[in-house]
Amino acid sequence: GRYEEVEIDSGDEIEELADVYNAMMAKTHDYISGQERFVSDVSHELRTPLAVLDGHINLLRRWGKDDPEQLVDSLEAAHYEVQKMSAMIQDMLNMTRLKQTDDYKNKQTRVVDSVEDMVDNFRMIHQDFVIEFERHVDFEAHAQIYKNHYEQALTVLMDNAVKYSGDAEKYIKVTLTEDADNIITTVSDHGLGINADDLSHVFERFFRADKARNREIGGTGLGLSIISNIAELYHGQVDVTSKIGKGSAFVISIPKPNLTDELETL
Ligand code: ADP
Repeated sequence: GRYEEVEIDSGDEIEELADVYNAMMAKTHDYISGQERFVSDVSHELRTPLAVLDGHINLLRRWGKDDPEQLVDSLEAAHYEVQKMSAMIQDMLNMTRLKQTDDYKNKQTRVVDSVEDMVDNFRMIHQDFVIEFERHVDFEAHAQIYKNHYEQALTVLMDNAVKYSGDAEKYIKVTLTEDADNIITTVSDHGLGINADDLSHVFERFFRADKARNREIGGTGLGLSIISNIAELYHGQVDVTSKIGKGSAFVISIPKPNLTDELETL
């Protein structure tokens, strides 16, 4: 590593202190390299749309005055790239803001309410979809998560189910179940599906499966990594099963509130 470990074998408190110091330094080092990786990923991802944008600006400079078709095409393309970058920046802000306040601590969410609201919303916006809600938990069921974060995660999953539906059946099902310790939310679709090679990468930052297919479908590759950050924040889990051409099912599992804690319901 890039930090100096302190080596002390005195067998007393000084050695213990040195161990604590080393553990702290290792953590700090991991954190800093995580941040460096983030900055370098982000720069890389923003460079691509910027390069395309620059290309179109050059075309406009050269031909824009004389060629009305080029003018329209390049302005259209430039607008698209700018929108892409702004979606990416919005997603990154959402990601870094997750932990910036203490607002999220000790909050719980009545999950049935959230899912019902979200399903109503999506039914209104996407009237060509059949959207089902299957409830296997009590109306009062709570998960220990800040409501905004839970609904943000649901939104990403349902947006994806819409986006990646292809020409297949326009169908989304949200299922709420529970085990002894967790509230389990599943969003499944009958859409394009994800192939086995890509499946293990979908939660990675900026990863987008099937480049050719995805070119026409807008996206930043950040939605699912935001979900996995949210799950991690609440000591929960995310998972996916999918079959190409058949559909996908995304599962978020969030702990139930600890009954001995005093919690504030939003
Ligand atoms: P984005 O949708 O912005 O590309 P995400 O992080 O939300 O980014 O998803 C990563 C990738 O996982 C997507 O590009 C897509 O290839 C795949 N994916 C996510 N959800 C689904 C889904 N419901 N059906 C098929 N593919 C999906």
